[in-house]
Amino acid sequence: MISTSLMDEFRSIVGNEWFLDTPEDLATYSYDGFLPEFRPDAVIVPGKTDEISKIMGVANRERVNIIPRGAGTNISGTSVARKGGVIMAFHRMNKILEIDPENMCAVVQPGVVNADLQKEVARYGLMYPPDPASMYVSTIGGNVALNAGGPRGVKYGATKDYLLGLKVVLPSGDLIKTGGKTFKNVSGYDLTRLMCGSEGTLGIFTEITVRLVPLPPAKATLQAIYSDLDDAAKTVSAIIGSGIVPTTLELIDRVVLDVIRDYGGAEFSRKAEALLLIEVDGEEVSVLTQGERIEKFCREKGAIEVQRATSPDEAEKLWQARRSAFGAVASVRPSCVVEDATVPVKRLPDIIRKILELSDKYRVQIGILAHAGDGNLHPIFMTDLRDKEEMARIDKAMEEMYEAAISMGGTLSGEHGIGIAKDRFMPMEFTGTAIELMRRIKRVFDPNNILNPGSFL
Ligand SMILES: Cc1cc2nc3c(=O)[nH]c(=O)nc-3n(C[C@H](O)[C@H](O)[C@H](O)COP(=O)(O)OP(=O)(O)OC[C@H]3O[C@@H](n4cnc5c(N)ncnc54)[C@H](O)[C@@H]3O)c2cc1C
Repeated sequence: MISTSLMDEFRSIVGNEWFLDTPEDLATYSYDGFLPEFRPDAVIVPGKTDEISKIMGVANRERVNIIPRGAGTNISGTSVARKGGVIMAFHRMNKILEIDPENMCAVVQPGVVNADLQKEVARYGLMYPPDPASMYVSTIGGNVALNAGGPRGVKYGATKDYLLGLKVVLPSGDLIKTGGKTFKNVSGYDLTRLMCGSEGTLGIFTEITVRLVPLPPAKATLQAIYSDLDDAAKTVSAIIGSGIVPTTLELIDRVVLDVIRDYGGAEFSRKAEALLLIEVDGEEVSVLTQGERIEKFCREKGAIEVQRATSPDEAEKLWQARRSAFGAVASVRPSCVVEDATVPVKRLPDIIRKILELSDKYRVQIGILAHAGDGNLHPIFMTDLRDKEEMARIDKAMEEMYEAAISMGGTLSGEHGIGIAKDRFMPMEFTGTAIELMRRIKRVFDPNNILNPGSFL
């Protein structure tokens, strides 16, 4: 518990209006997408960098935990007060500070919502490629802290590939600047990259400079339906192996398709065992030929139905199944646990087979959504967190799934981060020496362990 005088000191930095401690406020900030409840002592909403430095100075002096928080959409439990403390929320710091078309970059505050940035830069004929499915709510600060990816990742990569520079308040309250507007920068250690994916444990981003690319003039969107999941997986390998780099290559399995159909999200054949949503972008001529080649691959590998959109409206319709997937699965059982196993793309059929096997072995309902083009799977366990016996079976299935993914050369997380959801699995992927090195890095930045303590380390 934080003393009243300390609360008053925090309150005096941001003003009464921006220091929240009513039971309703605390309840609101007790959860993120990972679901278990961790009640904070208070919530502070700074309006500028200077205030953040002051807050951290006080927090460091008094050993108060501070937990940075964007929109709270992460599904690994990294924006809640696991060990008590004060949530620092960024919804006041939500300004796009600069769009610089000549230097192809933008400078934003951490609370800017991803889709708002996308919309603004599009007015300049530019695009910010990282597009997490949560882009209409998640913030650039949260995206950087988790190195978010998205459906466009196959072609464009993830947040780290567009992060040019940061202003960061350290746990001590000191401000540092890393990187800048140049695309090339090899001065010193790459602190910008170290911060990216640091899950709010090393510093607080107060200004973020991101790289932009030209908005592609054309795109082709295709949907292919398969009566055999293996055929869909083989199509993925065929497309990637052919040298075509799709913008998006998403896979949805039968379990999720059935749920989407029942939910009224989209219509497709009852024979559907898998769906691929494929998009390519670029110049009109190349998009046209690539679209034709992809359609051919889909048919050759056994698709029972292929649709190629002929207008933006039709493309939007083809996206409908994918977009409604999370809403649909969330309606099946009281909770769903969305996982993030990732394998080299060639091992996609193997890991899918393994997940289906685990679903039978542990009698758990698992649907599969995948950013298949980069081997990033989101197996969704449909469950009820209150059912301890079922959760124990899910835990075993998850452990075996991650063991399998890592034995295939994969990783625990392609984009969702580790948090408290998967910290226990870290020794599967890293040696003790590597984990100790990460702990030491944390200690260098945050010797008093006040910034987001109890996360993946
Ligand atoms: C339906 C759904 C779909 C999703 N789809 C995707 C997807 O396609 N790709 C993907 O990568 N993720 C996805 N996610 C996960 C999540 O949306 C992303 O990880 C997103 O980046 C989190 O952003 P946020 O603003 O919600 O951050 P939060 O969840 O609030 O916080 C995430 C982390 O960022 C830290 N943080 C926040 N702001 C700062 C700051 N200013 N400085 C330092 N640290 C900070 C927090 O401490 C925490 O560790 C999805 C989630 C949901 C619910």
